[in-house]
Amino acid sequence: MLRRLVVVSNRLPVAIESTGKRGGRQLRPSVGGLVTALAPIMEENHGLWIGWPGWDQEPHSARLLQEFNRRHAYELRPVWLNSEEVDGYYRGFSNETLWPLFHDLLGYCKFETEHWQAYAQANHHFAQVIAASLRADDFVWVHDYQLTLVAQHLRAMKVRHRLSFFLHIPFPSLDLFRRLPWKQSIIQALMEYDLVGFQTLRDRRNFIQCVKGLIPQVAIEVRRRYSLIHYGPRMVKVGHFPIGIDFEEFNRDAQASAVAENAQYFRRQFGSRTLILGVDRLDYTKGIPERFLAFERALEKYPDLQGKVSLFQVVVPSRTHVPYYQDLKEILEGMVGRINGRFSRLGWIPIHYMYRMLDRVKLLGCYRACEIALVTPLRDGMNLVAKEYCTSTIDGNGVLILSEFAGAADQLAKGALIVNPYDREEMADAIYRAFTMELGERRERMRVLRAQIRRNDVHRWVQWFLESDRAVG
Ligand code: UDP
Repeated sequence: MLRRLVVVSNRLPVAIESTGKRGGRQLRPSVGGLVTALAPIMEENHGLWIGWPGWDQEPHSARLLQEFNRRHAYELRPVWLNSEEVDGYYRGFSNETLWPLFHDLLGYCKFETEHWQAYAQANHHFAQVIAASLRADDFVWVHDYQLTLVAQHLRAMKVRHRLSFFLHIPFPSLDLFRRLPWKQSIIQALMEYDLVGFQTLRDRRNFIQCVKGLIPQVAIEVRRRYSLIHYGPRMVKVGHFPIGIDFEEFNRDAQASAVAENAQYFRRQFGSRTLILGVDRLDYTKGIPERFLAFERALEKYPDLQGKVSLFQVVVPSRTHVPYYQDLKEILEGMVGRINGRFSRLGWIPIHYMYRMLDRVKLLGCYRACEIALVTPLRDGMNLVAKEYCTSTIDGNGVLILSEFAGAADQLAKGALIVNPYDREEMADAIYRAFTMELGERRERMRVLRAQIRRNDVHRWVQWFLESDRAVG
């Protein structure tokens, strides 16, 4: 790729770490599929990454960024947001309006004009930083729901570059999207990008339906791999590009001796019991209460599971400032107490619950040690935990139970047991089926899953998206 890549995301992909010297701090690239995939390309073509660092502007934090830039071949450029912008744009409109709406959970949505205004303002702020940074032939790639309006602001600033956008979360149906008071503004703004990418075909179709419904004068041309939207002089290309993980990295790291030891230690604590793993951020889209009820139902319906199966649920703290998230934490704690109180016996606890983030070695250790993964979001753009679990079960005999409403289900339906997270009986049956599944079937299913995840890894995803900018077909 010859053109410089300018990636724009809400957060810059860095975390602060200690240098080991007296109170010294420095930035390191954060862990995550997107960073792993983009960092080599960014290094190679001396790219630029624009985003909010996640902390306040002060001389010291600006220095940390400068030092990072000196040590790397790509550059980070901050968008400094003040606390009102963070409240209205990020916590408000992004997390309390678009997030629930796009995950089909209308009941959780707040519709506040001030939040919308802060969102538009912050998108304008991002656009100003981008416009001031652009060189003639840059390829601009904007990420996710926090930044839908950026292209429109850039066009108003007379930026003529090709602009592309990828949505990491689902796109809702027209019926739901219509409820948003600012629907017209968002759809119109998205039409200012040249390439718009989604995770699944369903998201892409939903988007096309919304465009047709809200902008009657468009003409849609459906090609084999893309849809083209003609809108006056503009042509917007719309595709779906399911994101992957770095298969080789997970596969290799899962074999490391530290991970193997961790998995063995973890396994020893549970003897010969079958372990079912749940790993999620604290979020109402993840379907954790529904999962607990399904597990309870499985213990009730199939009493031979009692004493033989435990659910190990990791919940990573997230968005703790949003009241719904605080409520959810209490609900989960109450449910764990109730279900454990009902079924526990000496030497066996049905649900082991951890409210914390695991480091990479422990997370991979859990993936390796658990025979079954229960990944049952009510709605999810993709769900990387499902892919990471399969990649890390290097013995090839784990079972994945996966929600049909996770984007990952489109690719993993052949090898996983697919369930509706709202259907308690079906989930209870799937748990029992996974528990009793013969080794041969487990292996065959996992082989199919791993091959699919390997083929469609995150590096291929990046290439595919970047190449799609020009290719029409
Ligand atoms: N994760 C982690 N530590 C944990 C739990 C999760 O690093 O204790 C990571 C996990 O490896 C995965 C990400 O968090 O890459 C969660 O991504 P996913 O797509 O499943 O859900 P999201 O949180 O983005 O909605």
